[in-house]
Amino acid sequence: MSSDNEEYGFDTLAVRAGLARTAEGEHSEPIFPTSSYVFASAAEAAARFSGEIPGNIYSRFTNPTVRTFEQRLAALEGGERCVATSSGMSAILATCMGLLKQGEHIVSSRSIFGSTVMLFNQFLAKFGVETTYVDIDDLSAWEKAIKPETRILFVETPSNPLTELADIRALADLAHQHDCLLVVDNCFCTPALQKPLELGADVVIHSATKYLDGQGRCVGGAVVGTEAIVGTDVYGFLRTAGPTMSPFNAWVFLKGLETLNLRMQAHSASAFELAHWLEGQSGISRVIYPGLESHPQHELAKCQMSGFGGIVAFELKGGQQAAWKLIDSTRMLSITANLGDTKTTITHPATTTHGRLTPEAREEAGISDGLIRIAVGLEEIKDIQSDLARGI
Ligand SMILES: *Cc1c(COP(=O)(O)O)cnc(C)c1O
Repeated sequence: MSSDNEEYGFDTLAVRAGLARTAEGEHSEPIFPTSSYVFASAAEAAARFSGEIPGNIYSRFTNPTVRTFEQRLAALEGGERCVATSSGMSAILATCMGLLKQGEHIVSSRSIFGSTVMLFNQFLAKFGVETTYVDIDDLSAWEKAIKPETRILFVETPSNPLTELADIRALADLAHQHDCLLVVDNCFCTPALQKPLELGADVVIHSATKYLDGQGRCVGGAVVGTEAIVGTDVYGFLRTAGPTMSPFNAWVFLKGLETLNLRMQAHSASAFELAHWLEGQSGISRVIYPGLESHPQHELAKCQMSGFGGIVAFELKGGQQAAWKLIDSTRMLSITANLGDTKTTITHPATTTHGRLTPEAREEAGISDGLIRIAVGLEEIKDIQSDLARGI
């Protein structure tokens, strides 16, 4: 059905895109746990290896289950091509290795996933690729940081845990004025809520580990974009270096995509309700959620996102002591730094995800000691509220 993709709506693509039934007539997508493939003749083997005819060669870079996942996610993001990877981090690594060379430069928003900062600062820097960090919403700072060597603008929007937004269209225009590519980590929204490619971004990154699976089962990632960038440069790195997604994980993510929109709508609805409820509780100085009128970028959120997502942050007046007391008073919520699961998680960023920053850097990033992050799951909202009410 891939040739008809343009005719179908999002929910149809989520269930059917990429489906290629075998001669067995199976209804659900099969898993192909095979490392290699056999050829009908020596001539066919030669033609496949040379790329003269398409087809499976070796599962480091060609596997039917992985391909079905790639085609389905590409259809949902509205991209020409998707490359699946073994993790979200290897999706970012494959993008950088495919697109950058020594001496080139990245401009990135400051509030990105911690391991991404480590990848840029400790590993890419070793090979002569430098990164400059800017505030996500300060367009003039992005522009000032661009140098002749800059090749990539990198952003995660909304940011974690403060849900600050970047104006994707404005950043894409800026990138293109300077012959750069805009890379958006779309982990928090997924294509169900935000489509960066439609807003002008060149590459979309996913940690499939989060909402694409949505049920906390597997680690995986993906890169989506044009045939020239993703199908050539990124795929070229993946097929050689091999941070490949396994067929089993691809199948799990494929099944996750089928319910993606339903889940994202439910996460967003519950998070919206929770954010409003938190605003009415005493002991809380600030609730941060893009769906609240009090969010400084609420108008931008309404334009570029079709839902506000599942992440809510709030600040307790009593600092770290109050935050830890609240976390330890819960009986149902999972105390973990993960997100994008059916199970609601509660995190104290200052002592976990952002614990390695200096107190000054934490303050600059807006991570106060009283800050709590909730990744709202799919339990009954009243049960999430009563669990939190124990400690507020
Ligand atoms: C988790 C995460 C990653 C890394 O993904 P892994 O699958 O854990 O490698 C990258 N970006 C964001 C925004 C994430 O939340």
